[in-house]
Amino acid sequence: MAKRAVAEVEVGEIPFVDLKAQYRLHRDVLLHAVEAVLEGANFIMGPDLQAFEQEFADYLGLQYCVGVGSGTAALRLGLEALGIGKGDEVIIPANTYIASAFAISQLGATPVLVDVDEQHLIDTDLIEAAMTSRTKAIMPVHLYGQAVDLDPLMRTARNYGVRVIEDACQAHGARYRGQRLGAFGDVAAFSFYPGKNLGAYGDGGAVVTADAEIADRVRLLRDFGQRRKYEHLIIADNCRLDTIQAAVLRVKLRYLDGWNERRRAAARSYDERLSALDVSPAPCRDVGGHAYHLYVIRVPRRDAAIEALARDGIQTGAHYPVPIHLQPAYAFRRIKAGRYPRAEKAAGEVLSLPMFPEIQEGQIERVVASLGRHIGNGRGAD
Ligand SMILES: *Cc1c(COP(=O)(O)O)cnc(C)c1O
Repeated sequence: MAKRAVAEVEVGEIPFVDLKAQYRLHRDVLLHAVEAVLEGANFIMGPDLQAFEQEFADYLGLQYCVGVGSGTAALRLGLEALGIGKGDEVIIPANTYIASAFAISQLGATPVLVDVDEQHLIDTDLIEAAMTSRTKAIMPVHLYGQAVDLDPLMRTARNYGVRVIEDACQAHGARYRGQRLGAFGDVAAFSFYPGKNLGAYGDGGAVVTADAEIADRVRLLRDFGQRRKYEHLIIADNCRLDTIQAAVLRVKLRYLDGWNERRRAAARSYDERLSALDVSPAPCRDVGGHAYHLYVIRVPRRDAAIEALARDGIQTGAHYPVPIHLQPAYAFRRIKAGRYPRAEKAAGEVLSLPMFPEIQEGQIERVVASLGRHIGNGRGAD
């Protein structure tokens, strides 16, 4: 036992995401950016916010970006700007982070679930069957940093005259047929939660759009409904992106493409090493650049695997272990287990391995070796 503990100290724990490594590499430029905001003392709607909004819009090839307080707020304000409210229905995948659904429910609208495909993304073949006269929008979620198959989804939306809001909270810099995600829907939402591919040092988010009117409405909705100080045109929230966070994001945006490239290299290394084992990554369709926010595999006895890897000092995750309809918050809708079989099966088997731009080849090797010891024989963790 003592020997084993010593060995673990020598090789070190492998975190799921290593934000400390990223900070150490870019400390000076980050501190400089934050210090400039502190010295300018313009903490709310300061010049770094407008600059970041312009730079992120340019990065995506879009006209407008409006910084807000979180990814969840970005989804909610984006939906509200599209006119979605009480009694409306919005179609989402059954396997996503809860925020996709909550943003809809917070407006008094109803999230209507659709089962996922083998990539754990909304099954675009099932969307049409979920449409009703109350459907107002479809929300594709680019889960793990991979693109939803947008061609058929956009076609269905156009045929039915409903709006599209992309949940791009895990897909900064990812592409679909060459074009960056976030530029396909009427509006898209990004999260800058610290662990995302582009992360702030606190909460943050952005609504992006090519539509001037939608952008203008989101600007009102995030800032007390005012265009000019003390003239409040609509009842609205206080939901702004802090100047300090915008300054941090401006620095980090310059590294985003390089970081995503490193994530893809790490994913290729995982792919190769895992091919020797009895586990395979969740399949991905090759429609452009996967941003690998998460590297997900499926294993039969997932919770035992998480514990076994943790004993080897390796942090992992499950995205997500409970589908939306089986969450206590939605128990009132009385949707029974079995209704979305693929999402439910995935929820029990998905395992996310350590993934961050600074991950070392030796760390990947250790993760796969540990997996091999515990589940490589196909019988599940012992
Ligand atoms: C992170 C995330 C959100 C919410 O973003 P927050 O900034 O945490 O509010 C929404 N949807 C998905 C898919 C996410 O991963």
